[in-house]
Amino acid sequence: MNEPVVLVVGAGLAGFSAAAEIAGAGLRVLVVEQAAAPGGAIHRQPLPGIAYPVASAVHRRRWTQVTASVRAQGDRIEIRYGCRFAGLDHEGTALLTGARNALVRPRALVIATGAAERVRPRPGWTLPNVMTAGALQIRTKTLGKAPDGRILLGGSGPLLLAAGAELVKGGNPPVAIIEAGRPFRHVIGSLGLPLPYLREAAGYMATLLRARVPVLTGTEIVRIEKRSGALTLHVESSSGGRTFDGDLIGLHDGIRASDHYAAASSIPVMRAGDCREALGARAALADGRAAGAALVAELTGTVPASAKDSSRIERERRAQRRLARIFGHDGSARLAALPADTVICRCENRTVGDLRALGPVPTDRDLRLHGRFAMGACQGRFCTEWVRALTDPSHAGSPLGAVRLPAHPIAIADLLDAGGIADNPSTGE
Ligand SMILES: Cc1cc2nc3c(=O)[nH]c(=O)nc-3n(C[C@H](O)[C@H](O)[C@H](O)COP(=O)(O)OP(=O)(O)OC[C@H]3O[C@@H](n4cnc5c(N)ncnc54)[C@H](O)[C@@H]3O)c2cc1C
Repeated sequence: MNEPVVLVVGAGLAGFSAAAEIAGAGLRVLVVEQAAAPGGAIHRQPLPGIAYPVASAVHRRRWTQVTASVRAQGDRIEIRYGCRFAGLDHEGTALLTGARNALVRPRALVIATGAAERVRPRPGWTLPNVMTAGALQIRTKTLGKAPDGRILLGGSGPLLLAAGAELVKGGNPPVAIIEAGRPFRHVIGSLGLPLPYLREAAGYMATLLRARVPVLTGTEIVRIEKRSGALTLHVESSSGGRTFDGDLIGLHDGIRASDHYAAASSIPVMRAGDCREALGARAALADGRAAGAALVAELTGTVPASAKDSSRIERERRAQRRLARIFGHDGSARLAALPADTVICRCENRTVGDLRALGPVPTDRDLRLHGRFAMGACQGRFCTEWVRALTDPSHAGSPLGAVRLPAHPIAIADLLDAGGIADNPSTGE
């Protein structure tokens, strides 16, 4: 009962590498993962019985190593799938819902919940069959093949090229990739990227070229319409406007760290991987290890030795900054010119017009109480960035109000079912 137990949230690269590090020091770890299988965003596993044609050899090797390091810890690591962390209270009690509802009281917590995809609001972005490029990736990876129909990818960022290449490998190349930035104009700057990045990008481009997928750069999505069952994407570039017809559209405007469990608590809480800083897969591995080592040091009173990991993380940070410059473009004028009926908050269906009606510089209280922004199920995780950009860009990055627990909607039945607190999560149900 008094054994040290660490709760790790997320069975992606960061969560698994943290768990292996902590268990390797002799501490017992409970990993909870909301999905039915491990892998996170990049190593999403196919459904049982489905072959996985999409993953590259490098990705497969990395995932094999990480899972082996977890397995090597034997029963010091327990993993619960279909189990969602809903938050930690100030006394250090964690609420777990899903497959097994429970209130647990770990000695420390590692949050490794990954990144969220950014999607700019545009007219029509909430229509059926418009999703994120990441959602299309997940669908392709879990079903082992690309969705049927004409697929369009648009927005900005290197993930569009990765998603396009995965659709090709999954048997249905996208009709086109619409990129707002001009990455191909930065050939010299690109050469400063680490070799694995260049190799990965060259692999994606070769796959797209072989499948003759057009990649339009300097081209922005203006709006999406539904016409007689199909979707029409209106785009604009310096050479004018044009349209594309499709059945599915994958939008993507980058990824950002997604930490919405930031309540103060009496136990040590570490954040690892993309939920702390979205730096990609290699950094997530190193960051998980470093967080695990730091936590072990804190719990056992030893000195952490993670200099190697911190230089790796710094290298990835520099590479991500360079990538951001290569894909950079200014979308602020288009955002400011959005029509009034464009949805910004899809939880509460609040529009640009609703936002403008609050006045030129509404307070956070106005935005929440009168505007209902950041008051829906996602607590502003997706709309806050755009609300800030349209009302007060000087506060970009600051949340709209305090985090409330639970972090996502839960059923009262789940809360009742969680029952009392179990001191030891691996025995508490
Ligand atoms: C949509 C998307 C697609 C990406 N595609 C690529 C790509 O093609 N190539 C590439 O190099 N990088 C890609 N990345 C980036 C790469 O996936 C990450 O850098 C890396 O996976 C980060 O690892 P992580 O462990 O920090 O997070 P993740 O791999 O995202 O793992 C987080 C895990 O936490 C779980 N989780 C989240 N919240 C909870 C909760 N409340 N309770 C329980 N479990 C929870 C999630 O289900 C997930 O399994 C992508 C990122 C995103 C967001």
